[in-house]
Amino acid sequence: MRYRVVWFKRDLRLQDHWPLLEAAQRGPVLCLYVVEPSLWAQPDAAAQHYGFIRESLHVLDQQLQALGSRLHVAVGEVVDVLAVLHMAAPFDAVHAHEETGNAHTFARDVAVGRWCRAQGVGWHEWAQFGVVRRLQDRREWQPRWEQHMAHAQAPRPTALHTPPLTVPHVWPWGTRPLPTAIELGLDPHEPPQRQRGGRVQAQQVLHDFLNERSVRYRGGISSPLSAPDACSRLSPYLAYGCVSMREVVQATRAQLHTLGPTAKRHRLGLQGFVSRLYWHCHFIQKLESEPELEWRNLHRGYDGLREDDWNPEHFKALTQGRTGWPMVDACVAMLRETGWLNFRMRAMLVSVAAYPLWLPWQPVGHWLARQFLDYEPGIHWPQMQMQSGTTGINTTRVYNPIKQALDHDPQGVFVRRWLPALRRVPDTWLLEPWHMSADVQSRHGVRVGQDIAIPPVELLDALRHAKARLHALRRQPAVREAKAAVVQRHASRRGMPGANRDARGEERTSKRRPSTPPTTQMSLDF
Ligand SMILES: Cc1cc2nc3c(=O)[nH]c(=O)nc-3n(C[C@H](O)[C@H](O)[C@H](O)COP(=O)(O)OP(=O)(O)OC[C@H]3O[C@@H](n4cnc5c(N)ncnc54)[C@H](O)[C@@H]3O)c2cc1C
Repeated sequence: MRYRVVWFKRDLRLQDHWPLLEAAQRGPVLCLYVVEPSLWAQPDAAAQHYGFIRESLHVLDQQLQALGSRLHVAVGEVVDVLAVLHMAAPFDAVHAHEETGNAHTFARDVAVGRWCRAQGVGWHEWAQFGVVRRLQDRREWQPRWEQHMAHAQAPRPTALHTPPLTVPHVWPWGTRPLPTAIELGLDPHEPPQRQRGGRVQAQQVLHDFLNERSVRYRGGISSPLSAPDACSRLSPYLAYGCVSMREVVQATRAQLHTLGPTAKRHRLGLQGFVSRLYWHCHFIQKLESEPELEWRNLHRGYDGLREDDWNPEHFKALTQGRTGWPMVDACVAMLRETGWLNFRMRAMLVSVAAYPLWLPWQPVGHWLARQFLDYEPGIHWPQMQMQSGTTGINTTRVYNPIKQALDHDPQGVFVRRWLPALRRVPDTWLLEPWHMSADVQSRHGVRVGQDIAIPPVELLDALRHAKARLHALRRQPAVREAKAAVVQRHASRRGMPGANRDARGEERTSKRRPSTPPTTQMSLDF
């Protein structure tokens, strides 16, 4: 019996899944997920990603069973799995969503397409987000995004006919064990409080946010105290496709229509949220258009800026949450426990890595990719570069972790929650606990250098030095000239949704920030 393969990747749902619907309308369908050892061997892969995917696959299989079908799984490289399957039970076509992933998944998708062509098998891909493959002109992008989001959702098929298969390498979900994280070579640690995967959970989070929590979105997303509740928390569900971007945009716009004139706060929250959804695709488009962004500076004039000064002690202090700056170490502790941080705290972590610690963004980015449950390469790598100052087209924003603590955690509630040793430190010393005298330490039963780390650099000196190095480079004529080409390729256009917001995705709160954009041509940077 001829059939079509629907290859699930980061689109773990049945609703608004055009590859599935189109396949189902043409005959029997095999829904397939492949656990790829080479993918899990990449430096950005983590056990928590695998765990979240497995939970989502479990829900997917339950939903497929309700349609009279099953999810099938295989372990191996995708081309090999397809080849074995095709030999045993030939199929007509492979349906999938386009993926803007890392270099590895890009090469894999090219190889799958090539294999399909060589075998005379159809290879059909559908856009998953408002991201345009082979985009010629950045000016076309915004209308294309609107078009994608306004398009009808693919309804979930009402029944699915699955071919009877007896292929040893492919089996129905749950009938054989999958490799463990350790067997895939992953560090088995998973944040115990991370969000759980699956369509059902995604719908709950979306419903709860649109109806209730979004009232607190505006004004609530910058502080790490209010953000876990005020932010939508949809990021991992979008990253693994448990819900489609189109579903989220359409549901948010529908909710906006229901709000009366008195619901101003709620309206502002939802409008702010829609701009973030737009930024999601805007950033991914950058990686889609320039995949090299994952490993080399957007502006090549910045090559060699930090790479030659690699300091393993600084990297160790950062990744172990032992920088001594309470806000930084508390964020690292929260990440380890939950797999999530709000935008502002992510930006602060990267800024601390890039400026006072002077670490290149690539290894920091791989470490953070593993810490973030919602790791989405197309957002992550452009953000890593932007916060590290290697795009060449953004105003340099350097976050001082002590000022961030004053602004967002003035009572020390956040740092004491995540760093138990600080619970014994009196308020006076909370911002810079390493300055406590021996007498104060012994009175409060806390030891600097042991319970509390000593910062590896003097903060203000290190920040001054870092800014001076960066600005000296920016002033070089060749670096200034090359900036125009980067602007042309990547910067945003005037009038886009969220243009009155900070392009980095956070709220404008500081009076010191420029009210007009740094370049005359662009309304928003990067
Ligand atoms: C260095 C760095 C790395 C990041 N890496 C990732 C990543 O790997 N995956 C990821 O989803 N987000 C990433 N972000 C963006 C942002 O921090 C997260 O999207 C957000 O914290 C997720 O929580 P939420 O879903 O509750 O966000 P909400 O504020 O509720 O936003 C809703 C959605 O909009 C999108 N979004 C929000 N902020 C941004 C932004 N600044 N740029 C682009 N899209 C945005 C996300 O899809 C998010 O789920 C990164 C930010 C920084 C500074």
